[in-house]
Amino acid sequence: MPDATVESPRPGAALSGKRLRVLSGMQPTGRMHLGNYLGALRNWVQLQDQYECVFFVADYHSLTTVTDPASIRPAITEMVLDWLATGLDPQRSIIFRQSDLPEVAELHLLLSMTTPLGWLERVPSYKEKVAQFPDNQNYGLLGYPVLQAADILLPRADRVPVGEDQAPHIELTREIARRFNHLFGQVFPEPQGLFTEIPRVMGTDGVSKMSKSRGNTIGMLDSPEQIRKTVMTMVTDVERPLRSDAGHPERCNVCALHRFFSPDRLAEIWQGEREARTGCVEVKRWLAEAIADHFAPMREKRAGLAAQPGLVDDVLADGARRARVAARETLNMAREACGLAVSSTAV
Ligand code: AMP
Repeated sequence: MPDATVESPRPGAALSGKRLRVLSGMQPTGRMHLGNYLGALRNWVQLQDQYECVFFVADYHSLTTVTDPASIRPAITEMVLDWLATGLDPQRSIIFRQSDLPEVAELHLLLSMTTPLGWLERVPSYKEKVAQFPDNQNYGLLGYPVLQAADILLPRADRVPVGEDQAPHIELTREIARRFNHLFGQVFPEPQGLFTEIPRVMGTDGVSKMSKSRGNTIGMLDSPEQIRKTVMTMVTDVERPLRSDAGHPERCNVCALHRFFSPDRLAEIWQGEREARTGCVEVKRWLAEAIADHFAPMREKRAGLAAQPGLVDDVLADGARRARVAARETLNMAREACGLAVSSTAV
């Protein structure tokens, strides 16, 4: 990882300015599943040791696909409770809700004026969404990367944690920033991807990525009983129809999850499968126990947090207040650069 302790004397830096700033967000999907945990959250928790972290709930983004407005606010509360229980620390990091900072919407507007349409039409996820929702080809889907660029540029993030496959998304943000800077003068630093190895966690069906929309998730902070119930439904090694057949742990999603939750017993479990000494039911039972044990302290912490009324609202309000300082500075710089009046309400 790059050295995060380099002084960063950026103009407009309004957070501590001492460590490199990392930004990451997630759409409000409610309770977190193992994919969210292994693919993002546990990394976020670690990043806090090295970076000045800004984490946000991407509720504006969710409007491109959400059809039930009433579900958004409760989903935010549930998700942020899971974040806090996992170890995101509002004392060390800024945790805020995107729509609490409408500055991001204005920056999105300014950036949209200089972003060529062709850049957006070429984005693979836009093409996929258009194919997926042929009756709802809204501007939000096309403008998604511009809003994403605004998310990243507004707090002047230095690093954005992504998997290698998402490098083009960061590149687009860099191009959007570069073009604005080229046309109006240097306003935005160009962020870099912080490339972390992000596993692709497969769902209980064993064939597709774990995702709420596919109904194949294992809730990370579910009760041990619920975890057991879900894990027991997992599809295992389809090439091992009989208990007496040799197994192929490298092709079994239950065995793959043991990598994360039973590292000390992994070799033994995989060997037992290969030699048909263990059956799938046993291996699933062990996995359910290992998952439930892994999350036991977080489950307990979550129960304590959930019992504090207004906690999430307070965390998000404080996060928005802190994030707004840098946001207003950046927005004013952008407004000034492109010839608009500088907002009198700005810091
Ligand atoms: P989503 O709610 O699908 O947008 O996911 C939020 C975050 O969790 C993203 O950073 C994803 O990288 C991560 N994530 C979600 N599902 C998975 C998965 N099945 N495997 C790995 N990472 C995932």
